[in-house]
Amino acid sequence: MLGAHTDSPCLKIKPVSKKQGEGFLQVGVETYGGGLWHTWFDRDLGLAGRVMVRGSDGKIAQKLVHIDKPLLRVPTLAIHLDRQETFQFNKETQLFPIAGLVAAELKRKAGKGDAIEEDTTKEFSVMKVTTQRHHEHIVELIADDCDADPEDIVDFEVVLYDTQKACLGGLTDEFIFSARLDNLNQTYCGTMALIGSVKKDSALDNETAIRLFAAFDHEEIGSTTAQGADSSMLPGVIRRLSVLPASSFADSESDKSYDKTNDPDLSTAYEQTLSCSFLISADMAHSVHPNYAAKYEADHKPEMNKGPVIKVNANNRYATNSPGIVLLQEVARKAPKKIDTDEAGVPLQVFVVRNDSSCGSTIGPMLAAALGARTLDLGNPQLSMHSCRETGGADDVHHAIRLFSSFFEHYSSLEKTILVD
Ligand SMILES: [Zn+2]
Repeated sequence: MLGAHTDSPCLKIKPVSKKQGEGFLQVGVETYGGGLWHTWFDRDLGLAGRVMVRGSDGKIAQKLVHIDKPLLRVPTLAIHLDRQETFQFNKETQLFPIAGLVAAELKRKAGKGDAIEEDTTKEFSVMKVTTQRHHEHIVELIADDCDADPEDIVDFEVVLYDTQKACLGGLTDEFIFSARLDNLNQTYCGTMALIGSVKKDSALDNETAIRLFAAFDHEEIGSTTAQGADSSMLPGVIRRLSVLPASSFADSESDKSYDKTNDPDLSTAYEQTLSCSFLISADMAHSVHPNYAAKYEADHKPEMNKGPVIKVNANNRYATNSPGIVLLQEVARKAPKKIDTDEAGVPLQVFVVRNDSSCGSTIGPMLAAALGARTLDLGNPQLSMHSCRETGGADDVHHAIRLFSSFFEHYSSLEKTILVD
């Protein structure tokens, strides 16, 4: 199994977001996760998320929206008006985006011929409708994006994001400058590796294991949610997979009389499958920072483009242990050759934090505890984790994909060769 998370710190539109001040239209936002919030100032912010839309049949369905346009901005205060040494701000009152001007909105409405008078024929509504809770223009843009009428937008969960596209950077394109490398980088590598590992028709001919990739939401806020890593979701999925009798894949018609509840082999199949399973928890790691090198433990300074970083912590903030490190080395050794080169194997690095430093954590320890399966934490090195725009290494994407492919392809055979009582 390979596990990752898909969420990142961001600003999320509040349930009632319509605000204005000093002639500006403003949008109330909540902070999601532990962002480096000062990096969100002076960015060109768009909107994306999910919307609940009432259809003509009366049913309410989820639709995804993405308004790829700089609609909002959190403006800094000019240095001439505030010469503070360190940039400090209030997250409620000063991390507060502007979305337009009141005058422009009035002109837009007048242009549309919208009547200002109150509609007295309105039906009873349990809650204020979306166009009353949010700026009408924003609701209209969201409705447009999902081909619905504004009055059919029942509710939405929409976040702000930087509209600047990801790009390669550095003198020889060795960097990736992008938002959300933590953790879409590892989500991407895991997805590509799983797809790649089953590309050949014969890929699963001798496979005795199930290759599974799980990408969770809500890691940045602690994972204790219905679909987070600290829920019963992954154990539930594995339980269902493990009690499927092999014959149900082959020919379900032929053994209708088969009662799996009475099969002694299946009653403990879940526990058995976990005892011989292995989970790689893939989440980004910290590359050494040239301007703050003293913040890193002297012998554990991961370098960019030198391969995935195995994270070790004596207090189990990371779930890595020795048998896992040994297994991963074998996996890395057997990794497929780099495209167009003879370079075999994937380089690996190790990381521990200084004893006098705080330490992050991942979905690794909680999944290890919930599953009782061997687990290892690793991730590609990056700079500026939780910034609005982060920096990673371009080669490390290839490194991780090759490593994860090798894990999927070779785990079943390697598992038997590493003996732990
Ligand atoms: Zn992360």
